[in-house]
Amino acid sequence: MTERGEAHPPRAPRAIVEATPPPAEFLAEAAALGVELEPGDLERLHAYLKLLFAANATMNLTAIRDPDEAWTRHVLDALSLVGPVASAEASSGRLRVLDLGSGGGVPGLVLACVMPQVEFTLVEATGKKARFLDATASALGLANVEVLADRAETLGHDPWIRASRDVVVARAVGPLRVLVELAIPLLRVGGTMLAVKGARAADEITEAKRALHMLHAGVVDSLRTPTGTIVVVEKNRETPKAYPRSLGTPAHQPL
Ligand code: SAH
Repeated sequence: MTERGEAHPPRAPRAIVEATPPPAEFLAEAAALGVELEPGDLERLHAYLKLLFAANATMNLTAIRDPDEAWTRHVLDALSLVGPVASAEASSGRLRVLDLGSGGGVPGLVLACVMPQVEFTLVEATGKKARFLDATASALGLANVEVLADRAETLGHDPWIRASRDVVVARAVGPLRVLVELAIPLLRVGGTMLAVKGARAADEITEAKRALHMLHAGVVDSLRTPTGTIVVVEKNRETPKAYPRSLGTPAHQPL
């Protein structure tokens, strides 16, 4: 893991929620999504939720306290991306997917559990969360995960990362018009951003019109899922060098 650290004052620990095996509702919805879970996948996902809840006692990774709800709101929500990610094309070799603002690992770490053939880069600005992601990927034996403890504004100008990824996924990292400035520079030309959105998806698309135009990208689809809407954005041409703008500017002065 590469890291730019951050210090936080200690907080009183919360009680640990016990992760439980997948409820029938989750299994039915995953099957309806067409996600084929291999032997071992459910065990790995269950182990992930256990580690998430344990770490959540000392840091803010999830507001969810109900173990059944975690299967639906975290795991199923992430699995709704399996189809769209699987249909993306790798520019060379293995498909390279970047999860922007991975937090506790949704959607990137969940996807890495069930898509071993895909390479995942989890980007997380908060050092403590990034350390959780790195330790959890190791504990789960995931060889297809790398973690970058850095900000998208910085990585967007790093020659190793800029314009390198086939797919960028993101959930709950600001409104679409902010997210696109952070995500599009990381994609290769022809690459796809998949943003997990809620009820405001259509409004967010309208508000992002100008930003998309400036970034040479466009919305090509909007997919309804059991848990929300996936907005599909394609990068049409090289991103102008000015983007992403400096740290914090995309969020404070959206395009
Ligand atoms: N995707 C996770 C976490 C959402 S919270 C989920 O859906 O549960 C948003 C996360 O993005 C936070 O952990 C925050 O630290 C991270 N983040 C916000 N802005 C960022 C940026 N510019 N670069 C990298 N990470 C960022």
